[in-house]
Amino acid sequence: MRLSRFFMPILKENPKEAEIVSHRLMLRAGMIKQNSSGIYTWLPLGKRVLDKVNAIIREEQNRSGAVELLMPTLQSAELWQESGRYDAYGKEMLRIKDRQDRPMLYGPTNEEMITDVFRSYVKSYKDLPLNLYHIQLKFRDEIRPRFGTMRSREFLMKDAYSFDLDRESAEHAYNRMFAAYLRTFSRMGLRAIPMRADTGPIGGNLSHEFIILAETGESEVFCHKDFLNFDIPDVDTNFDDVAGLRGIFDKWTSLYAATSEMHDADAFDAIPEGERLSARGIEVGHIFYFGTKYSEPLGAKVQGPDGKEHPVHMGSYGIGPTRLVPAIIEASHDENGIIWPKAVAPFEAIIINMKAGDAGCDGACEQIYTALRNAGVDALYDDTDDRAGTKFATADLIGAPLQIIAGPRSVANGEVEVKDRKTGARETLTVEAAIARVTAN
Ligand code: ATP
Ligand code: MG
Repeated sequence: MRLSRFFMPILKENPKEAEIVSHRLMLRAGMIKQNSSGIYTWLPLGKRVLDKVNAIIREEQNRSGAVELLMPTLQSAELWQESGRYDAYGKEMLRIKDRQDRPMLYGPTNEEMITDVFRSYVKSYKDLPLNLYHIQLKFRDEIRPRFGTMRSREFLMKDAYSFDLDRESAEHAYNRMFAAYLRTFSRMGLRAIPMRADTGPIGGNLSHEFIILAETGESEVFCHKDFLNFDIPDVDTNFDDVAGLRGIFDKWTSLYAATSEMHDADAFDAIPEGERLSARGIEVGHIFYFGTKYSEPLGAKVQGPDGKEHPVHMGSYGIGPTRLVPAIIEASHDENGIIWPKAVAPFEAIIINMKAGDAGCDGACEQIYTALRNAGVDALYDDTDDRAGTKFATADLIGAPLQIIAGPRSVANGEVEVKDRKTGARETLTVEAAIARVTAN
């Protein structure tokens, strides 16, 4: 992508409304624009990161055996009246009427709707287990939207829903998502700790929140330090291995970890002092097992091997992609801007032409840009006629992992500089070696 043809409205000044670093950097880098309170446009640079986050989520959901579909944002109130949540949900639910005066709502979550999909088609235990997910916008009329897309009113959620014949198999479904979540967040460069959680309006009896430790987090959390070193399930984890997945769950729940709502001060104090971690955290995912809470009122039943009908056991599993993007920034930035982990970087590299219009610089940059494009490396080429200082600041701000800097003097020797955004380390390389360095990264 040539910067001269891209749309990346960089802000020079620090936006006053931004209280935390991720919000400030997302606005300054031209990733998002607020349209109204808690409602945002994802500008092209932000959209690229969001797409990468979603791609990782999708890959790990699919790997664990979940199946993607897409449900609408607008729902009819009827289903929610059937489950009893229409009145219970309160002011966070945006209620609307259509031209026929029929009550509708902008979905804050999809338990009812997915249960309706399920009951329409699935009648036998032979079609189980089943886990259906989508990545779709939600609306919750949050009392205090803040911190940009960290807590917005309209936000994206990956929500998965599992269906099983009985509690035992539903627990395996829960463990599948548990392991998939550990892998998902780790691939984004984050360490998420599963913590015992309150089930809130979703309801149910088994629940974990996945929390990223961050000073600016809204939750107060307490856990054992060893969680910081636990192994993440590897790529060939067998998601059908019941005992294996239970082992992962047992290991990751063997030590104390809880949010303030579930905090047990005595249990926490029983941990030796040097091993206690009391911190703030960001909830990036939340999983629930809630049995037959929705299948009973909505009549989602399957015939079991005994020939009788049984309400299905369900769980639901959320991840917030539009919250994850700022969470990654909270975990990875410095005073000059964002430092993207490669897996979610909007561009893998940025080519900085220090003197656009100079034949040598233009030639070297074009050569590198073309070679990277042919090698499938997604690079941003800063071909604008801004001053070099401005270009360096922009490159640091938007945080591509590698920078290739072409200035008239080095180019005259057939060389360019490659800078690692994270470490700041610089290497002077021939044009060919620089291309090889970036493609090998
Ligand atoms: P919170 O406690 O932060 O309000 P929640 O417990 O209400 O979140 P869930 O119903 O568990 O949220 O939703 C699943 C996931 O969706 C959350 O873990 C979070 O990542 C994301 N999410 C929830 N609310 C918001 C929001 N207002 N803005 C952005 N992401 C959100
Ligand atoms: Mg939650």
